[in-house]
Amino acid sequence: MKVTVIGCGYLGATHAASMAELGYDVLGVEIDSGKRESLASGKVPFYEPGLEDLLATHVASGKLRFTDSFEEAGAFGEIHFVCVGTPQRHDGLGADVRYVDAAVESLAPHLGEGALVVGKSTVPVGTAERLAARIAELAPGVDAELAWNPEFLREGFAVEDTLRPDRLVFGVASDRSEKVLRDFYAPILATETPVVVTDFATAELVKVSANAFLATKISFINAVAEVCEAAGGDVVDLADAIGHDDRIGRKFLNAGIGFGGGCLPKDIRAFLSRAGELGVEDTMSFLRQVDDINLRQRSRVVQIATTMLGGSVARSRIAVWGAAFKPESDDVRDSPALSIAGQLHLRGALVSVYDPKANDTARAMFPTLDYAESALLAARDADLLLHLTEWPEFRLVDLGVLGETVRNKLVIDGRNKLDAQAWRDAGWTVRGLGRP
Ligand code: NAD
Repeated sequence: MKVTVIGCGYLGATHAASMAELGYDVLGVEIDSGKRESLASGKVPFYEPGLEDLLATHVASGKLRFTDSFEEAGAFGEIHFVCVGTPQRHDGLGADVRYVDAAVESLAPHLGEGALVVGKSTVPVGTAERLAARIAELAPGVDAELAWNPEFLREGFAVEDTLRPDRLVFGVASDRSEKVLRDFYAPILATETPVVVTDFATAELVKVSANAFLATKISFINAVAEVCEAAGGDVVDLADAIGHDDRIGRKFLNAGIGFGGGCLPKDIRAFLSRAGELGVEDTMSFLRQVDDINLRQRSRVVQIATTMLGGSVARSRIAVWGAAFKPESDDVRDSPALSIAGQLHLRGALVSVYDPKANDTARAMFPTLDYAESALLAARDADLLLHLTEWPEFRLVDLGVLGETVRNKLVIDGRNKLDAQAWRDAGWTVRGLGRP
């Protein structure tokens, strides 16, 4: 079977390479010429573990190609996956669906008989119904259909999550679309992957609800962390204890500087915005607080740093370990680490950032910060060290050497992941979040 993947960023490039791995002939459609040429030469233009091998293998075998031509895409594929971005609008909280609209508008006139367009982007509820009507207008007489198949992959585990998802969701308007999707995903469904078949609106809402729930869980534990600090408790022990309850679970209960990235922040805001359009904003207004609590973690760290440095960060050397929004990724979209680094810089601190994979993406977004080539170089003569993205290499640093490198043995562990006792034993003052 031949499929196309429209939009080859984090989601689309992973989907395209993974579908080639499942045995399909895949044509990726990407309008950014730099990305397209990089992908076509077998190079992933971002960091995602395992993806480059998969891409290179299938580009070399000819199972995976890239183009910018929608005409070629329409002629090539029986199924077309739409994976373009849906960032936050510049003028509001809602999702900017222009890229999804443009992709469908460009593709629809070229669709072949019986083609299925499958949306994977995260969109406001109601988008699929609107696009299905648009496809009917733009592709009359070819019996093309639309389905929505939201994606739940996690950056850092994207290939694994695509090939072995914990569930598939098919939002469909006909038995035929369901059958096409079941046949297409047969290799994955054969491994007993649960599938939920539902309507468009539910499929769209599943995705934003899942992200809203995860965001709420993180902000919940961050709020409790502040109570722990006020009361002298330890949020890590608390999370371990409540996490043993399998109704709660331990995942997403790590107090720290909060969530970021290209999904959670914009998805909760888009959900809130769409709820408002649907007249149910009050019901979802708790998401405002989830967002506020999350953003407050960033200013809290800036405030703690200011206090630790005697009331001002101006002219202090601050080392920042981590720039990506999470480890095993170079994605710095709405990264809490970079936001904190930027706020400190704007308050006059001399900030030196090191991230094992995200120095380049961070430099492109925040060029005025200093970027170091290693954790130790970032820490040279530092008055304060901030651990903001929990890459494993930061837990392996030789504390003896580090102690000789910095000016002051002061550290804020923004992820509560360092071995605080070992650091204290090595003479450091360690400040976690929500910890004694
Ligand atoms: P991204 O910005 O990395 O990729 C989007 C790509 O689409 C870009 O390369 C862009 O050049 C391309 N594009 C835009 N318009 C196009 C068009 N008309 N034709 C062809 N290509 C076009 O974004 P992403 O992180 O991959 O996210 C894509 C969607 O997937 C979003 O809706 C996001 O919410 C959702 N999603 C992302 C993740 C994730 O972890 N990144 C996980 C699940 C869902």
